[in-house]
Amino acid sequence: MLQQEISSYLARSGNKQLKVKAFLFDMDGVLFNSMPFHAISWCKAAKEFGLELSEPQVYMNEGRTGASTINELTMKTFGREATEEEMEKIYARKSEIFNACGVAEPMKGAAQLLNAIKERGLKIVLVTGSGQKSLLDKLNRCFPGIFSPENMVTAFDVKFGKPNPEPYLIGLKKAGVQANEAVVVENAPLGVRAGVAAGIFTIAVNTGPLPNEVLSGEGANVVFPSMQYFADHFAEVYNAVG
Ligand code: MG
Repeated sequence: MLQQEISSYLARSGNKQLKVKAFLFDMDGVLFNSMPFHAISWCKAAKEFGLELSEPQVYMNEGRTGASTINELTMKTFGREATEEEMEKIYARKSEIFNACGVAEPMKGAAQLLNAIKERGLKIVLVTGSGQKSLLDKLNRCFPGIFSPENMVTAFDVKFGKPNPEPYLIGLKKAGVQANEAVVVENAPLGVRAGVAAGIFTIAVNTGPLPNEVLSGEGANVVFPSMQYFADHFAEVYNAVG
């Protein structure tokens, strides 16, 4: 399993070997099934402020910080940058609607996968563009003993955010490993782009409505159909990359 994918990773990245010591996990759509709520709340908030946005666009934009998303929508709709005040107001409204959606469930298979990684003594780092307090707080309740502030990169730690490689480069630093000693786990096209740009072997899990080709087109080394599939095949993956 994965031999061909690893070979093409090595050829493209110029690394001699892949020896994985850490897994860098995105949060929304990977650890929590929160994307349907994000899609609903982004579209509703955008509409209230006269901005044009469709649900598939939310999935395409996933991974950007809230401010960057609002700026892009304002550029598209009004042909100008968003003001600080607009960014704050719209993001606050989006968060309000998001929180009213209820609490997103942990993704099926996520706990199984995280525990399997931890059992092997490998490092786990969260790398999310989210600044959503409700979900960050929920990490500890749903995945006890896995996450602490030292192994988390959130919206509060980055300047650029995904699709810039910055968040994953910070993630490598937090894990204390090189790019060829890590795996990125992502569901979003822009998140995959960020992982690939950071020079890291990137596994996409397609947990949303976009076609697999969107994820492989951004450079994902592998596309798995779900987190449960990844968890069930973790031993094989680890044998290949570890
Ligand atoms: Mg995601």
